[in-house]
Formats: sequence, C-alpha cells, structure tokens
Amino acid sequence: GAHRLVIDLYPVEGEQELTTGVVAPARDRDIIVAVDAGHGGRDSGAVGAGGVYEKTIVMAMARELRRELDALPGFRTVMTRDGDYYLDLRPRFQIADRAGADMFVSIHANAFRKSSINGAEVYVLSARGASRETAKLLADREGGGEAPGFGPVSLHDVDASVARIMVDLTMDSKRNKSVLLGEAVLGALAGTVKLRKEHLYEKAFQVLRSASLPSILVEVGYLSNPGDLRRLTDRAHQRRVAKAIARGIRDYAYMNAPDGTLVASMVEAGALRYVVKRGDTLSEIASRYRTSTRILRHRNDLPSSDRILVGQILFIPFGKASG
Ligand SMILES: [Zn+2]
Repeated sequence: GAHRLVIDLYPVEGEQELTTGVVAPARDRDIIVAVDAGHGGRDSGAVGAGGVYEKTIVMAMARELRRELDALPGFRTVMTRDGDYYLDLRPRFQIADRAGADMFVSIHANAFRKSSINGAEVYVLSARGASRETAKLLADREGGGEAPGFGPVSLHDVDASVARIMVDLTMDSKRNKSVLLGEAVLGALAGTVKLRKEHLYEKAFQVLRSASLPSILVEVGYLSNPGDLRRLTDRAHQRRVAKAIARGIRDYAYMNAPDGTLVASMVEAGALRYVVKRGDTLSEIASRYRTSTRILRHRNDLPSSDRILVGQILFIPFGKASG
C-alpha cells in the first residue's frame, strides 16, 4: 500500500537516567549466530536404520557449523545445547534472545514412512505460527508476563493497541528476514546436497517462534532414506553440508549486516557484492573486475569446478588485494 505507519516510542520520563562521563567508542561487534542442534537426551528425534539417532547426527553437524562460523571474521556462535541432554523448544530461542543473537539456525534430520522421500529442506515460520505467537505474547502481557525481544521498551510500557502493533511489526520484520536468510542458505545448499524441492517450506514450528530473531530450520536429509542415511553418517558429507549452511548465513549477513558490526564495516569498506546473472562465468567476471579466478575462488570459498549459480553472491575484492 502507499501508506506507512511510523511509531516513535519514548521511555516513560524519570524511569531512565542518562549516563554521564566519557564513553569509549564501541568496538565493532560480532554477528552472533545461535546454532540449535535439534532434540537431545531422552528425545532422540527420528531414528534411521541400524539405530542412527537424529539427535546425534544433528549435534555433529551443529558443531561443524560452529567451527565454520567461528572461523569467519566478524562472526560468533552460541549453541543452544552442547551435549546430549533434553532441552524444550521455547528455551532454545530464549537462550538465543538472551545471548543477543542476530539469527537462529536450527539443525534437524527428517524421516517419513515412505523411504523413497529424500533431500534437504529449509523451513521458515508460517503465517499461522506467527499469529499464534503474536496471540500468546499479547495474552502473556495481559497476564503480567514479560516478553523479550522488543528492545528497550517493554510491552507493559504501552497500551494494548500499541503493544499489538509492536508485536505485529516485529513479527513481520522477523519473518521477512527469515525468508532472506532461508533463501541464502537454500541457495548455498543447492550446489552441495540434493534438495527435496528448490523452495522454502513454511511450518508453525515452535522453535522458530522468536518474535525478533530471523529464524530458520534446516532438515539436512531423511534418515528414512537409505542414500540420505549413508551420506548423513559420513563425516566428510556432514562437513560439506555445514560449510554450505555457513556460506548461506555469511551471504545473508553480508547483505543484511546490522549497524555496529564488524561485518557491516567490512562490507562498507571492502568488497563489492556481485549477484551472478544468467550466462556469467567466473573467468568473465574476473576479467571484468580486473581480478583473477584464483582470488575469486579463494575469497568466496568456491569449489575448484568454478561452478557458479544464478543469483549467487560473489564478493569481489578491490584495491591492492585484488591484483
Ligand atoms: Zn527433528
């Protein structure tokens, strides 16, 4: 529509005091990715032939993902669980919220009674899931409960209609960002694993219901499918999938870096972001931007096949480092 609603929120006078004195400029902070290994403890999740537990597979992959992300400059991870113990669903994103995470990535493996079904899937919260969470937050507010994720303003500082608008806006923005994150991860996975379908799935998953955190759930494959099961238990495959998910997260973060982060400064100062178009080849892009395929491969963590996909984002360094 042509209209845009803008709300300015002010803290209630007298409740907040200004800090005086010299404040050192804040160092560029890391982007924090919450990595959530599904299930755990008494909840094994799906079980594959030969007694392969989903909770074990996804823990291994979550740790690979942590390794990949922690190695990227400007990124840091927080694990919701880091061991084989039970953790309920809401506490998972509450841990992420409390840790100041910028996004939430849950790792699962699927299963189905038809063993022919296979491939990886990426899920975002459905509209139904979002409206259920909105209703829950507003009911909690009525009951005097606290809802995290709304910045410095509490839902109790505003009246019911403003609280509803705040929750709706936050939830809308979160869902839009989740789709961007999901598409980036789906795109990165496309070159590495077989996807069940080449689009995002939507579901009302509890674990994706944080009001503010862009959240996705990756089903890395089907434990009920013999081929997927064999690959998912292979260490090298686990690492490849984790690398691809990390690449997708990085692509999303480079395009949507929050202010005050090292990644935002890097993007501002550093490299050109190039979206691959139909018919592009890596060598052509390299010559167009006076760099080499070797540097582009290295800078973008590309496989040696030089295969690039339409819509993929390439980072093209310039200045001295680009020669
Ligand atoms: Zn699961």
